[in-house]
Amino acid sequence: MDHLKNAISLLKSNKDGLRCPKKWRSQYPTNVLATLDLPEVNGGLGLPLQEMIKVFRIAGEIDLTLRDAIGIGHASLLLEQSRGAESFADYLREVGGGNYFIGIAMTEPSAGSDIRSLETVGKNEHGQVVINGRKKYILRLMEATHFIVLFKCENTSSLSLAILPRDSEGISYKNIPKSAFPLQTFGEISFNNVKVGEQSLIGSWGGGMPIIVNHLTKWRILTTAALLGCASGALSLAIEWMRTREAFGGPIGRFSHLQQDVASYAGRIHMIWIFLSEIARSIDSGNEKYLESALCKAEGGDLAVQVVRWSVKTLGARGICEETDLMQRLLDLEAMTIADGASDLLRMQAARGLTGEEIYESGLSRSRTVNRVGGKALNYMLFPDAIDEY
Ligand SMILES: Cc1cc2nc3c(=O)[nH]c(=O)nc-3n(C[C@H](O)[C@H](O)[C@H](O)COP(=O)(O)OP(=O)(O)OC[C@H]3O[C@@H](n4cnc5c(N)ncnc54)[C@H](O)[C@@H]3O)c2cc1C
Repeated sequence: MDHLKNAISLLKSNKDGLRCPKKWRSQYPTNVLATLDLPEVNGGLGLPLQEMIKVFRIAGEIDLTLRDAIGIGHASLLLEQSRGAESFADYLREVGGGNYFIGIAMTEPSAGSDIRSLETVGKNEHGQVVINGRKKYILRLMEATHFIVLFKCENTSSLSLAILPRDSEGISYKNIPKSAFPLQTFGEISFNNVKVGEQSLIGSWGGGMPIIVNHLTKWRILTTAALLGCASGALSLAIEWMRTREAFGGPIGRFSHLQQDVASYAGRIHMIWIFLSEIARSIDSGNEKYLESALCKAEGGDLAVQVVRWSVKTLGARGICEETDLMQRLLDLEAMTIADGASDLLRMQAARGLTGEEIYESGLSRSRTVNRVGGKALNYMLFPDAIDEY
């Protein structure tokens, strides 16, 4: 882990390098980082989720942007399908070697949380798929070499996924200026009769939803680890300041309101870390943890924002200075409570596992009592392991 920490710190010290994840991944020591969760069959180290969260935590502690330097990222969607790791072996080898960097394009101008409202459509004709539509709020817009695109299969409500190179004919990009993650680009992608071969489909035609669900389950765990790391980094700075900053004749750390808060935040970060580690272990053992992962990201993300906001206040004026990075952390974290699922939505998913499908569906003004994902009835219950123990 120390070796990894040094490798990740090196990336941060070369700030210009932060602009280009592809560059990180093609250079030592980042190329080691890119292969951490790449399956062994594809030439990687094949680390399980319970190990990857430790690396994501270190990355987040240094800079949240660095979560993109670690592992295969959204390329792991290529593993979430029945054809197995071999079917996209060429892509995975290039991702591991640092030549490819995969972005994900799901969100649209009028469909974010409400994934069923997607308007981007794919038409399956003569062995190829023709895609038309528009995606918005896509991070890594100019850095990604390829995008995995989620679209509706024409004349159905099913979803499919395909991977395509960024320079495919018919694709255009528009940058959207933003405040968070200043070193990464963000924006829109338009698809105008973009053609991809059937071999670029991830999973079966119409079988995209369960693949996305599995991917998001793991991705949110990794993201939460980085968010907790980011909060821990800020908290360490605040603790150091409590010990060294003097006011009214002694260190500010003697004031009881700061003592109460610092203890509470340290404890809560640790509790969510334990929750996260338990979910990661369970997923590694083959269990479905969609709801738990959603809840963990919501609670971890919102807590991280609170911790960093409190750290800014504890550092006083120094808290808003660039040398501490705290305001940038705050902006990035606020953005991350929306990205990969907004906290409210994620808690709603968790509540679904407690109060049941009927109430969940009626909350969305839908009358169906059984929700189906890719033909499989959802039968989630929050914390089933814990219930089994009683
Ligand atoms: C930094 C960042 C990076 C991103 N990167 C990508 C990317 O690479 N690829 C990609 O595809 N997308 C990306 N996104 C988009 C992201 O996935 C969406 O922003 C997210 O899914 C929320 O969708 P929305 O912004 O349309 O918000 P909306 O869905 O419009 O929701 C707005 C708010 O309305 C409320 N709300 C909506 N529905 C409900 C409900 N049913 N119950 C309760 N409250 C509700 C919530 O408070 C929610 O926060 C990124 C976003 C950010 C901020």
